[in-house]
Amino acid sequence: MAAGHEHLGLCWHHGGQKPQLGPNVHPMSTWQERKADINRRAVARLTRALPKIFPPLVLARALTRPFVPPTPRLAIDSYWRAHPFRADRLARALAARSGAPAGWTWRLGDDRNSGMPATFRSPPAPYRERAYARGPGFCCVCGQPVYRFGWHADLWDAGPNKNAIWHCACVIAWQFWNAPSEQARLLRRLQARRCGQTGSRLWKTAEVDHRVPLFRVWGEYRDAPWPVLLDYWDLPNLQVINRDAHLAKCATEAGARRAARALAAERA
Ligand SMILES: [Zn+2]
Repeated sequence: MAAGHEHLGLCWHHGGQKPQLGPNVHPMSTWQERKADINRRAVARLTRALPKIFPPLVLARALTRPFVPPTPRLAIDSYWRAHPFRADRLARALAARSGAPAGWTWRLGDDRNSGMPATFRSPPAPYRERAYARGPGFCCVCGQPVYRFGWHADLWDAGPNKNAIWHCACVIAWQFWNAPSEQARLLRRLQARRCGQTGSRLWKTAEVDHRVPLFRVWGEYRDAPWPVLLDYWDLPNLQVINRDAHLAKCATEAGARRAARALAAERA
């Protein structure tokens, strides 16, 4: 146990010195009571800050959390965090509304300031690139206006939020596309815990895999229109597969890459 916890009065039951409690803290105060107190304050804070109009699903979820998010913004963030697939669908629908900027093509770049992806493993995002960014008030993932609290619709008739360049939903979608393994638990459930490659039961060590590998997306499909390209980072192209099946698949893919390189060298 980390030293110094006792003075916070959190861990005295682990054998430390019983802390000196203030006059307002009943010595029998349990963790549950403290939690209830924290939540009462959070609800009060949230209620004070809540505008007249607020997405009802988000509010309903916030109020049933073990720890109620104390601000509208955190309530929205917590909602999307719990629903990454919904966030992903929304982000792609918003991106479809924007389409690709005129003249944009998927390119890689080393210059961090350019905003271009350094590797084909990152999903292409034209509005993150300096040359095509729409500026404050527009989301750098989907290119659509960002409204109050990072919401994607102007429920408040207040116009774009000039301090924001991300939708809350697009933050979660972006994280999902870049690190799908973080959602392995949800993906396993979607597949009824069966290996996406062999259909056998998934082991604990199973891994998240792109059905069409990203090197092939870059090599063969890079001219596909944006945001259709994003589909390769998304659910239909993601599967959880057992480690042995993954190794076999990678070996086949490596073989195909070698063959393609050899063919290219022959033709050159
Ligand atoms: Zn967005």
